[in-house]
Amino acid sequence: MFLRVALDVPLNTLFDYSWTGGAVAPGTRVLVPFGRRNAVGVVVGCSDSTEVPPARIKPVVRLFGETPPLPPGILRLLQFCSDYYQHPLGETLFNALPAAMRQSKPLSLPKPKFYCLTTNGRNVDPETLPSRAVVKRRLLQVLRQADSLSRSEIAALSPTAPTALKTFIELGWVEESQSDAPIPPFVKGGLGGISDGGGIPETAKSPPTPLLQRGEPHDPDLTSAQRLAVDSVSTTLDAFRPWLLHGVTGSGKTEVYLQVVAAVLQQGGQVLVLVPEINLTPQLEQRFRARFPAVRLVSLHSNLGNGERLKNYLAAQAGQAAIVLGTRLAVFTPLPRLKLIIVDEEHDASFKQQEGLRYSARDVAVIRAKQTGIPILLGSATPSLESWHNAQGGRYGLLNLPERAVSGAAPPAIRFIDTSRLKLDDGLSEPLLAALRERLARGEQSLVFINRRGYAPVLICGQCAWISACHRCSGRLVAHLRERRLRCHHCGHESRIPAACPGCGNPDLTLLGHGTQRVEETLERLLPQARILRVDRDSARRKDALPELLRKIHDGEVDVVVGTQLLAKGHDFKRLTLVGVVNADGALYSADFRAAERLFAQLMQVAGRAGRAELPGEVLIQTQFPGHPLFMDLQRHDFPSFAEAQLAERRQAGFPPWCYQALLRAEAADRDKVLTFLQRAAAEAAVLEHQVAVFDPTPAQMARIAGKERAHLLVQSASRAALQAFLKAWRARLEALDARTVRWMLDVDPLEF
Ligand SMILES: [Zn+2]
Ligand SMILES: [Zn+2]
Repeated sequence: MFLRVALDVPLNTLFDYSWTGGAVAPGTRVLVPFGRRNAVGVVVGCSDSTEVPPARIKPVVRLFGETPPLPPGILRLLQFCSDYYQHPLGETLFNALPAAMRQSKPLSLPKPKFYCLTTNGRNVDPETLPSRAVVKRRLLQVLRQADSLSRSEIAALSPTAPTALKTFIELGWVEESQSDAPIPPFVKGGLGGISDGGGIPETAKSPPTPLLQRGEPHDPDLTSAQRLAVDSVSTTLDAFRPWLLHGVTGSGKTEVYLQVVAAVLQQGGQVLVLVPEINLTPQLEQRFRARFPAVRLVSLHSNLGNGERLKNYLAAQAGQAAIVLGTRLAVFTPLPRLKLIIVDEEHDASFKQQEGLRYSARDVAVIRAKQTGIPILLGSATPSLESWHNAQGGRYGLLNLPERAVSGAAPPAIRFIDTSRLKLDDGLSEPLLAALRERLARGEQSLVFINRRGYAPVLICGQCAWISACHRCSGRLVAHLRERRLRCHHCGHESRIPAACPGCGNPDLTLLGHGTQRVEETLERLLPQARILRVDRDSARRKDALPELLRKIHDGEVDVVVGTQLLAKGHDFKRLTLVGVVNADGALYSADFRAAERLFAQLMQVAGRAGRAELPGEVLIQTQFPGHPLFMDLQRHDFPSFAEAQLAERRQAGFPPWCYQALLRAEAADRDKVLTFLQRAAAEAAVLEHQVAVFDPTPAQMARIAGKERAHLLVQSASRAALQAFLKAWRARLEALDARTVRWMLDVDPLEF
């Protein structure tokens, strides 16, 4: 017998190996000889024959039996991705596996420690703990409900929960649990502690039924719109149906998720929840854990260690974890009882992988829901125009949450400061400063939003026009004054800020433009009594630095936050009532047709940080174009109007979603080689019969990064099927081209140019 095996190599082919054992399920991992080494492969099929000559066929070294094979549904999904994204099946498969399963050494499955209450601990009533000891009370409550918790589950409750755990162990209330796969509480309760001889409860046969009524915090009252959304989704759980949940910040999207999830859990199903960024997982994780304390929830993202990620992946595949919460890579997790997929912030560009398999996890999630025959819920305050278009055309069900769920909370008032008529003090206008002082006097917090880190985006010499350009990229070196460094944000190149102009020796160099560091410095000068905190990728660089920065804001140790988009998403601060936006104009007139969509989403998101519950919020945007239509829609919080205008523009220009696009990206050290390759590629396209528009080779927006010249060829069609058929035929011809000095790849549904 011969096994057809996919390997993690950039070749669009499978490899045959001989095998003398019995039948092997597709999806099984194997170790096979490849070149001079052994490599891990995944079996995709078995056959009695092979086209490989007998002398060249090699035997499989061994099967990896310690993990179950990838289930057929996941193999089908990955085959779809390989075809649709024009990427080799082997690399596509391996992209979906946790790192530990890609390695040829045998897996050592980590045995994480679990903790449970002792008899003494069980006798302690959480109500008898001091009411100040919120975390201890909570931990005790959750341990009573969940029976046993892993260390990471405990840490997810609160940053100080591990300390509380230590105290409980010292008091003799908590001990290490004996079983590493905790028994769902209903089984333990049901068995009543009576041994059935073998002592193994039959947990595997029936899916764990969550005890929703146990210890569940009281469901908040739903608005009628939330109720309609929950009912619409949860009454059609047995069929494919995509839903777009459009709700402004504070309209209670998460509550809709939680209640639909409750319905799925009650039926014994599993739920996959995708979020765009790792730093958005902890808060959502906490809300899910608080609502479903007796349900096993695992997270999957690239910040987890290899062991933990493997453990969580296998818990999902075994059906032990009922809720999987993760970033885009989690979309490929095997889930035998998957009944619902939720994609939160579905518009976010982070769902698209920008290297290797260039997939959109949002789009793959929709395909997965379709293949599985289950509903998918896409949520956003500012949906992608693609999803909005689908909802308008009736392909997606549209669920609107128009009002803020918290009664009395009005959306923030958005006003504009016309900077074309005002003198700015280092980038900040007097009206904005006055508003900041007002908040300071009232003891409220403000956020100054500027989406550019560093001090100043460029350093120039006024005498010889020298400019701080990166010698490896077509970008500028950004001045980071605190560290006295010039940094390239594209390739990471760094150098010292020169004492004098490298061109003419002029010691008087000028910093042009504004970044977070400069705004921070200006605010320190103009608001000397304010406590100012900067939150950007530099200040949050250290692992775990971000939670500490966020804690300072939550605990009121900060008056003014200077932040980038790192802060714009998802974080709610009770006392934050003012958001000032500086330097947002660039995106209004960008060459990128998606720039306006991104700006609108970003400003809506950052505006949503202002004002919660009892304190009304205000947003002040400094701009030279206060009358711009985008700003008018923003001021009215009118996404539908904005989307309609954008879709009309795109229709006229023939841009997505009115057409389907793909990019042939190419890069090489030599610019001519890149362009020559793309011209040959265009010539190959001309030979093919197709209904696809092939554009001329164009330099990329960043024409050079890290010494590589970059350019692309855009192809597009009004028909997705026509584009797919063309790409398949074109790719075969491209692979036959001799282009060893040029690296090229196809990017289907590209977001960046
Ligand atoms: Zn100079
Ligand atoms: Zn660079």
